[in-house]
Amino acid sequence: MKPAAFAYHRPDSVEGALALLAEHGYDAKLLAGGQSLVPAMNFRLAAPAVLIDLNRVPALDEIAETPDGVHIGAMVRQRTAERSEMVAASVPLLAETLPFVAHAQIRNRGTMGGSIAHADPAAEIPAVMLALGARFHLRGPGGARVVAADDFFTGLFGTALEPDEMLVKIEVPAAAPGTGIAFDELSRRHGDFALAGVAASVQVDAEGRCTAARIALLSVGDGPVLAAGAAAALAGQHPSAEAIRAAAHAAAQNDIDPPGDIHASPAYRRQLVEVLVGRVLPRAFQRARSAS
Ligand SMILES: Cc1cc2nc3c(=O)[nH]c(=O)nc-3n(C[C@H](O)[C@H](O)[C@H](O)COP(=O)(O)OP(=O)(O)OC[C@H]3O[C@@H](n4cnc5c(N)ncnc54)[C@H](O)[C@@H]3O)c2cc1C
Repeated sequence: MKPAAFAYHRPDSVEGALALLAEHGYDAKLLAGGQSLVPAMNFRLAAPAVLIDLNRVPALDEIAETPDGVHIGAMVRQRTAERSEMVAASVPLLAETLPFVAHAQIRNRGTMGGSIAHADPAAEIPAVMLALGARFHLRGPGGARVVAADDFFTGLFGTALEPDEMLVKIEVPAAAPGTGIAFDELSRRHGDFALAGVAASVQVDAEGRCTAARIALLSVGDGPVLAAGAAAALAGQHPSAEAIRAAAHAAAQNDIDPPGDIHASPAYRRQLVEVLVGRVLPRAFQRARSAS
């Protein structure tokens, strides 16, 4: 299939991109890596009249460390983040997860911001950002605003982005001492979208008790799901096998209402979540103890 006809603009500044968005509104789409948008256009699932290509906008492709955390530009390629020593050292959950996103060829083009703005419920990067409590820096005609990941994902492929806004930067807070992370997912073949996945960030005190847990689940809802029941089951507990079993059970039975499709029934997705949370948490707590 070929896409419907569209006008093409290649601005060289954020201001230029925003002016085009303001001019064309709902008729326009930003083009980042094109790895979700272009297939959707070729299948005529999307037919924007105007494409605004962000690939020549400078300074959106930088990764920088600050005392508060790591800032990742929206146009940073997924493969660049995967290979970044800064990301490996300071955002290890992202480094551990990126090899699960599609295939290397797709990650060479696909961007961090494109994945977050696209908000596919089966995507790994949005779940990682939710687990890490990331904040998204948006720009629009009214200026800049910052939206927490908790408030950003609003439903199936839905986000807090207005049609005339763009995501410019992702801010990942620095990890507190005693933090441990882990990721796992199950897909039919490596590189396929996962049937279910778990990104976890946990924190322990000097006695090894859980003081915080953010467990984000993917492919089991309209967007990434923060497993509040699982976190409550761990709060103040030593992460014993029993406590982890209780958290995994809460995640699978209370925290999600998974969809069914030709690949997996809702019951199977619940079972996968229970197994995956049970695998991920011991690894995250082991790392948290080593970091405390
Ligand atoms: C075969 C295949 C397999 C894949 N498997 C996976 C997988 O397993 N897991 C996974 O997570 N993804 C997967 N993907 C998707 C891939 O990760 C994409 O790179 C990603 O979803 C979108 O990033 P992009 O930069 O290509 O965005 P684009 O396709 O360019 O854009 C996607 C959407 O985001 C909007 N957008 C882009 N940038 C911005 C911005 N800065 N501000 C506001 N809106 C913006 C666009 O307008 C568009 O609506 C797969 C893709 C393919 C083709």
